[in-house]
Amino acid sequence: MGRFYVTTPIYYVNAQPHLGHAYTTIVGDALTRWHRLLGDDVHFLTGTDEHGLKIQQAADAAGKTPKEFADSIAPLFEAAWERLEIANDDFIRTTEARHYRAVETLLKACYDAGDIYLGKYSGLYCVGCEEYYVEDDLTNGTDCPIHKRPVQHFEEENYFFRLSAFEQRLLDWYAAHPGAIVPDFRGNEVLGFIKGGLRDFSISRTSLDWGIPIPWDPKHVTYVWFDALTNYLSAVGYGQDQQRFEDWWPVNYHMIGKDIIRFHCVYWPAMLMSAGLEPPKGWAVGGWLLVGGEKMSKTTGNVVNPLDLIDDIGLDGFRYYLLSDTPYGQDGDFTYEGLISRYNSDLANNLGNLLSRVATVVAKKCDGIGPAPAPNSPLAEAAAAAYAGTALAWDQVQPSRALESTWHLIRATNAYLEANEPWKAEPGPEVDRVMGDALEALRIVAVLASPAVPETSQTVWERIGLGGAVANERLPHSATWGGYPGGLNVVKGDPLFPRRQA
Ligand SMILES: [Zn+2]
Repeated sequence: MGRFYVTTPIYYVNAQPHLGHAYTTIVGDALTRWHRLLGDDVHFLTGTDEHGLKIQQAADAAGKTPKEFADSIAPLFEAAWERLEIANDDFIRTTEARHYRAVETLLKACYDAGDIYLGKYSGLYCVGCEEYYVEDDLTNGTDCPIHKRPVQHFEEENYFFRLSAFEQRLLDWYAAHPGAIVPDFRGNEVLGFIKGGLRDFSISRTSLDWGIPIPWDPKHVTYVWFDALTNYLSAVGYGQDQQRFEDWWPVNYHMIGKDIIRFHCVYWPAMLMSAGLEPPKGWAVGGWLLVGGEKMSKTTGNVVNPLDLIDDIGLDGFRYYLLSDTPYGQDGDFTYEGLISRYNSDLANNLGNLLSRVATVVAKKCDGIGPAPAPNSPLAEAAAAAYAGTALAWDQVQPSRALESTWHLIRATNAYLEANEPWKAEPGPEVDRVMGDALEALRIVAVLASPAVPETSQTVWERIGLGGAVANERLPHSATWGGYPGGLNVVKGDPLFPRRQA
């Protein structure tokens, strides 16, 4: 037990919430739900990134002020997360006063440490990325590697952060904190960036208004990194409530996509070190969820709206697919056929079928009253293994493996029923024993699966006659064999997951 602080990236308000945003946010949500089951005091943060040239331009085009524009998009994210039952404890917007205070505090701390200096920048700049590129990075020598559009030549006076001074300190820190980045191969990638040499980076603009002014030189506004990354501090009281900040910082995990690894795992810990703050305890780096083999983007026109999928397949069908189909860290390829196939095999045929069989047999052979499990059931070992595997996988931020482990228990229970065929037997102690075991397995499945499929788990919980919220159960106690008391009304109900045609 302890405190567990997890963040998603803050999402840029130039686009509406899409599948990629939903993916990272659902993984973060499931991870924090797991930690709530462990009894941890959890703080799960998400929010929106609202400054910068792209927003200013989008606002101009829409005939709005940048703030009005941001105000029109940020609520779409809040509403989407509500639909997805994201249990975030806070939603931060970078236009909030609490965030300005924190950014000013961090800038001053780094400036006082001598790590911020005034310089001149001229270079090739992508408006879409809000980032300068060197020619070697460009596609065909002219185009942004991400946006595939020509970069522009810019020259201006900028403040710079002295990242080059942090190479050795970062290497030493990572050497002392092995496993801070999961999965491992992403950690090696970060060490590669650092060993390749670090360049100071620009942190301010004079050509831009829509940002947070540099406190000692307000004709400059800071942009991108000192603005966006600092949200992780602002939300827990940095520069405002020192006690609260010390309670929550350092963060346990930043959930991020692989495209922002350099900024989160190189720039950010260096900025924190400069300000005398601890680097994060961990980063969990996800791959991209590709659609038809391509990264989703407005430019390529393959944007998938998560809310449309929920209307179609149900919230838990959608959450289960995202969490189970791609090992976290690898790229996944979203396909509708894949979604339906997972739904039919794991949800309809395995979990849904198990619940429906158990409820049917209990109704016919046990007068609808669920019997208690046997203490030495052959399923007890499968349940213990499912718990151990699920816990280990969540500990490594591997939701697909966690679900695999939990689903082993579902499969073992279906196999146990098929081996014993209680539906063919006369009512009596033998049927009661088998059904008590199956109900106990379902109880444990409901607890272990609840971070991924909260609504479904609650339904299973209630159908087998248990009261209260499954989310209030506590591990490891609630996964221990023998918790189903027996003597409860078991309800048949509608199929949990009616089979779908592909
Ligand atoms: Zn770009």
